[in-house]
Amino acid sequence: MDFRLTDDQQMVRDTAREFAARELEPKAAARDRSGEFPVRELKALAQLGLLGVNIPEAYGGAAAGVVAYSLAMTEIARADASVSVAMAVTNMVGEVIVKFGTEEQKRAFVPRLTSGEAVAGAFALSEPQAGSDPAAMSTTARRTAGGWRLDGAKQWITSGDRAGVFIVWAKTDPQAGAKGISTFIVPGGTPGLSAGKHEEKLGLRGSSTVPLLFDGCELPESALLGKLGGGLSVALTALDGGRIGIASQALGLGAAALAHSVSYAKQRHQFGRPIADNQAIQFRLADVATELEAARLLTMRAALLKERDKPFSREASMAKLYASEAAWRACDAAVQIHGGYGYTREYPVERFLRDVRVTRIYEGTSEVQRIVIGRSLSQAGAGK
Ligand SMILES: Cc1cc2nc3c(=O)[nH]c(=O)nc-3n(C[C@H](O)[C@H](O)[C@H](O)COP(=O)(O)OP(=O)(O)OC[C@H]3O[C@@H](n4cnc5c(N)ncnc54)[C@H](O)[C@@H]3O)c2cc1C
Repeated sequence: MDFRLTDDQQMVRDTAREFAARELEPKAAARDRSGEFPVRELKALAQLGLLGVNIPEAYGGAAAGVVAYSLAMTEIARADASVSVAMAVTNMVGEVIVKFGTEEQKRAFVPRLTSGEAVAGAFALSEPQAGSDPAAMSTTARRTAGGWRLDGAKQWITSGDRAGVFIVWAKTDPQAGAKGISTFIVPGGTPGLSAGKHEEKLGLRGSSTVPLLFDGCELPESALLGKLGGGLSVALTALDGGRIGIASQALGLGAAALAHSVSYAKQRHQFGRPIADNQAIQFRLADVATELEAARLLTMRAALLKERDKPFSREASMAKLYASEAAWRACDAAVQIHGGYGYTREYPVERFLRDVRVTRIYEGTSEVQRIVIGRSLSQAGAGK
């Protein structure tokens, strides 16, 4: 597989890198402390085409493809993972509407996401009692004279109190199990939709994560996205793509951790020489660099397969599983290499460690990725 970047891919990466270094990195620590939602930053990302990297130009996207999206996500996450999660979900929501929506839905909602008018998109699948097993959801959508009425609660919704466009899963036929779930597009501000209190999170503190309540939320007939009863397949398709985004986010955090580790190890002296002169430190850095490179190649492969319309579900799960765990080890090593200082806010590595932890949990936990990979092996044979 050829991993040379095209001029366009390099341009998207460099644009994201330059913006991240100039606008995001200097304020990332302050955002982590204040929890301020990055409205201005998301609008700026929209201006650069980074809220619709893989979305056709007809809907305001950059049409730069999945590899470019992955590269951009890595650059933004390297500077501020909180901003990158809102970016990831917004790109994902736009892509889902492009893939499953009618022309009318695409024209009505996708440009709002890509232009920044909606500020962010939100993906409302998880519920208090249905996380790894979304088919166990209890939110319902009942037919009314004019369309649908949503009732129920969602949990952990990224940007759920800020988003202008939501995609929401609900049971349209509670007796039909996994085949009774459908997807709906809900504009922010629709009566009957409200957001609860912000979760007090370990990391990603500059992102907003809230529960949602749907209480008699009336939607028109045209709110149905994709086929009636086809919602679980919409969700699983979206999550496959989303996992490339989270793998890329983890890569960005891992890269930041490695860069800070190398720089600190070179300037910190103990026993009369830089700690980087110790083989124990060099070996740890070597392992981190090698694992991140392996994770990058897995992520690029999954992105390239998706971009070429080839099956990529197993590869996306492998990339997400490996990148999130490798990045966790990279951030843990960074704290260790910084010694006591690594445990304080004087250096950013403690934030990286807190931020990276969730990449092993959301968009499917590491265990869920292993289930996806394991199933694909038993279905297709280990050699495939
Ligand atoms: C910061 C943050 C942002 C999020 N953003 C969103 C969002 O925007 N939209 C959204 O819909 N959701 C979002 N989520 C939810 C996230 O996707 C879920 O937390 C995740 O899918 C896990 O679900 P759960 O928390 O209910 O854990 P559970 O499903 O209860 O799992 C608990 C533990 O059991 C393990 N487990 C469960 N089933 C199995 C099994 N069969 N075999 C082995 N182990 C198993 C899990 O791996 C995990 O370790 C977010 C979560 C967080 C923390």
